[in-house]
Amino acid sequence: MSGQLAVIGLGPGDARYLTPEAGAALAAAHALYGYGPYLDRVPAREGQTRHASDNREERGRAAAALRHAAGGSRVAVVSGGDPGVFAMASAVCEEIERGPESWRALDVTIVPGITAMLAVAARIGAPLGHDFCALSLSDNLKPWELVERRLDAAAGAGFVIALYNPVSRARPWQLAAAIERLRRHLPETTPVVIGRAVGRADEKIDVVTLDRAGDSPADMATLVIVGSRETRLVERPGRTPLVYTPRSAAGVTA
Ligand code: SAH
Repeated sequence: MSGQLAVIGLGPGDARYLTPEAGAALAAAHALYGYGPYLDRVPAREGQTRHASDNREERGRAAAALRHAAGGSRVAVVSGGDPGVFAMASAVCEEIERGPESWRALDVTIVPGITAMLAVAARIGAPLGHDFCALSLSDNLKPWELVERRLDAAAGAGFVIALYNPVSRARPWQLAAAIERLRRHLPETTPVVIGRAVGRADEKIDVVTLDRAGDSPADMATLVIVGSRETRLVERPGRTPLVYTPRSAAGVTA
């Protein structure tokens, strides 16, 4: 019997962001693996086992799910947002690469989801309307010097920058340090979108300027989008402003 492993993106929160494909893949699984709060979003189904693990246990979780699938089961690993964006799909690929040959014979499916930067962007306008990039500010898996180099390169090249993992309890200073770094390249008035818990009941979206962005209250459920020199606000009577980046760029501005 050949096992199956699906790596499933749940989207940013509420069930309405779950794609029909992800819903079908969840329903078809015999066993679910994931970080506890993500598993809690999936309705219980009879006959389906659940294997919750800690947020930082990605490697062990991927290996456990692969071992389980190799036994002939239909196994699903769940991720928030998209599983390919700073999440479980890479962890599963890494384990397949270094694991036993039999894991390469498994039927592996990656089921995409709406990633946080797209959900935040859609709430506020179109900040990702021109060239953009995404960076994780976590220095658990890379040195901080590399984060700084990438921030310099991205801002210097005029990209809008989506910042994942801006802070955590163990990493309280990263967002402020990243914003300070970006201030070397960008005007103080550059719009910065702070999106917290998007798609959940306690969702909150703020727009601030770059000079104030370092003081923003951010946590592990916050995504930050730092505009480029082209990103602007459209004020509207009685409504929140639209933040957008025009589809065209004039030339090299940075
Ligand atoms: N795979 C996820 C990202 C995992 S990294 C995705 O595609 O969205 C975890 C980071 O994602 C968080 O620190 C935060 O920056 C961002 N994030 C995840 N869900 C979010 C949400 N609902 N609202 C805002 N940011 C979110």
